[in-house]
Amino acid sequence: MRYLVLSDIHGNLEALDAVLAHAADQHYERVLVLGDLVGYGADPNAVVERVIALAPAGVIRGNHDKVASGVESPEGFNAAAHRAVSWTQAELTPANQAYLAALPEGPLDIDEAVEICHGTPSDEDEYLFEAHDAAKALRDSGRATCFFGHTHIPVIYQLSPDSSLDASGPDRSSARRLSLQPASKYLINPGSVGQPRDGDPRAGYAIFDTKTSELTLFRVAYPVEAAQAKIREAGLPEVLASRLALGR
Ligand code: ZN
Repeated sequence: MRYLVLSDIHGNLEALDAVLAHAADQHYERVLVLGDLVGYGADPNAVVERVIALAPAGVIRGNHDKVASGVESPEGFNAAAHRAVSWTQAELTPANQAYLAALPEGPLDIDEAVEICHGTPSDEDEYLFEAHDAAKALRDSGRATCFFGHTHIPVIYQLSPDSSLDASGPDRSSARRLSLQPASKYLINPGSVGQPRDGDPRAGYAIFDTKTSELTLFRVAYPVEAAQAKIREAGLPEVLASRLALGR
């Protein structure tokens, strides 16, 4: 099976459309969405409708999806995120709000080899930045390959059969290919489609082929200025527009 893996789209339609156009050449068969479809960006309805049209084989909720759909309170959100999520909640159509409210909590088993989660396999809201937390998440994961999101930073953690842990963080390549080793376990963040935070403003996504075990992390340029203009026009906090150009 050849999967297209999308995470943290965050209402950024320009980034999502650029990714979908780029991925059209990748001959994927199924789509996985790791949560945070909305929040921050100015196109929550269009993004939700794009995702619905993709008919994902697996889609789970993120923290912004929970708050924007009224499942949870914005407690713990910073000021800009809080304003954006309140704006998003008011903007969403009832149908799109109901879709987000019904999204399942991760982790979600996709097949015998793959599972997805938003934060970590044991806590959908946990930020996984450290090797120590990755080691725990790899132990908690019930599958050889677990995709996660939430941090907006692409990374590949590999737990080898001798229990050694390797981490490989973001680089500047536009297509980073890796052959996954059959006896290892992996924890992979494909990066964020709509709000990258690793200093590279390009949208991130992954293609994973379970038959060949080949993983590719892609970065795709998109019209950042158009997404920024919509954020400013909507009256959302300026920082949400400016950060897109920095990838921070
Ligand atoms: Zn997010």
